[in-house]
Amino acid sequence: MALDNSQVLSIGVDLGGTSLRIAAYTPSSGVLESVTLRTRLEAGPVAVVNDMCHSVLELLERHIDGRECAGVGVGSPGPLELPAGRLHHPPNLPGWDGFSLLAEMEKRLQYPVILESDANAAVLAEYELGLGKELAVDSMCMLTLGTGVGNGIIIEGKLWHGATGMGGEAGHMTVYPDGALCGCGNHGCLEACASATAVVNAAERKISTGKAPGLAHLKNGGVVLTAQSLAEAARAGDVDALSIYIETGRSLGICLAGLINILNFPLYVIGGGVANSWDLLSPSLFEELEQRSYVYSLTAPGRAASAGMPGGGTRVLPARLGAEAGLMGACILPVYSSKPTWASA
Ligand SMILES: [Zn+2]
Repeated sequence: MALDNSQVLSIGVDLGGTSLRIAAYTPSSGVLESVTLRTRLEAGPVAVVNDMCHSVLELLERHIDGRECAGVGVGSPGPLELPAGRLHHPPNLPGWDGFSLLAEMEKRLQYPVILESDANAAVLAEYELGLGKELAVDSMCMLTLGTGVGNGIIIEGKLWHGATGMGGEAGHMTVYPDGALCGCGNHGCLEACASATAVVNAAERKISTGKAPGLAHLKNGGVVLTAQSLAEAARAGDVDALSIYIETGRSLGICLAGLINILNFPLYVIGGGVANSWDLLSPSLFEELEQRSYVYSLTAPGRAASAGMPGGGTRVLPARLGAEAGLMGACILPVYSSKPTWASA
C-alpha cells in the first residue's frame, strides 16, 4: 500500500452505461469533490471520452493546490483487454466494440491513466478501504450483483488479471446447464441467475405462468418490478418474491462453493444492489456452501481448520462500501502500489 502520502492527488472515473462519476481524491482526506454526468452513449465513445477528460481536468485544476497528481484511475465495464486498454463488445456500452479507451484518454491527459474493469476497481476498494482492511486479509474475492455480475480477485495483495486482463469472470460460471440465456451467449451463467436483471426476469416468468398472484397484483398496480421492489414484497410476505431470493442465494452458493474450493481465501464479499437483500438470500447461500464446499465446512469461523486464518475463518459477507466501491476503487488505482507492471506510466 502507498496510501499515506498527503501531498498526492488522484482522480477516479467510474464509467457506466448510464452515468459517469468523476472524483478528486487524496489518501489523507478521501474524496474532495465528485461530479456525476450522464453518459452520452448516443453521441459515441469519442464524445463520452471528451466529457470524462473535460471533468477530469476541471477537478484537477480545482484541487491540485500544490499537490502532485499521481494519475487518473478508470473503472470500465468489460470485457476489457489489458494492457491494451481496448473494449470488446461491452454489453453496457453499445457501439464501443474495439474502442481503445486507454489510448484515447492518454491522448487527452498528460497524466498516467490506469484502467481496470469496474469489478476490479470495486474489489480493490473493498480490499484497501473496506472489509479487506478491517479483517487484515491479503487475498479476497468479490462478486458484485448489479445489472450483471462482476467479479474481482485479489491474490496476495495484487489484482488478478490473467493473461489478457479478463481473469475474474465468475459471473459467467455455469450454475445451471439449461438455465436462462445470459448476455454472453451461454445458458445458466451466475449472471443469468443472480443479477438484478435476473431477479426481475424471474419475477416476469412467474407472472406469465399465472401462478404468482401477488407479483401480478404488484405489477398491475403500477409498481415497477426491480430487485428492490421485489425484496420489499418478499419481506412483506409474498412467497413468490421470497422464493426468487431463495433461488438467487442458492445460485450464488453453488458458484461460491466452487470458488472457495479452488481459492481457499479467507474472505468473499458480495456487493451490488442485490446484496442489499442479504437477509433474504443468505440462508440458502450458506446452506449450499455447507453442502457443496468441504473447504467451507472445515474452515467456517469456529470450525476445526479455521484457527489461525486471518479474519477467524472463511468469511462470506455483504460489501462494506456499497455503491461507492467502484468510484473509490478508481480513485485509489493510481496510488495503489501493487498495480500491474504494465501500468507503470
Ligand atoms: Zn454469461
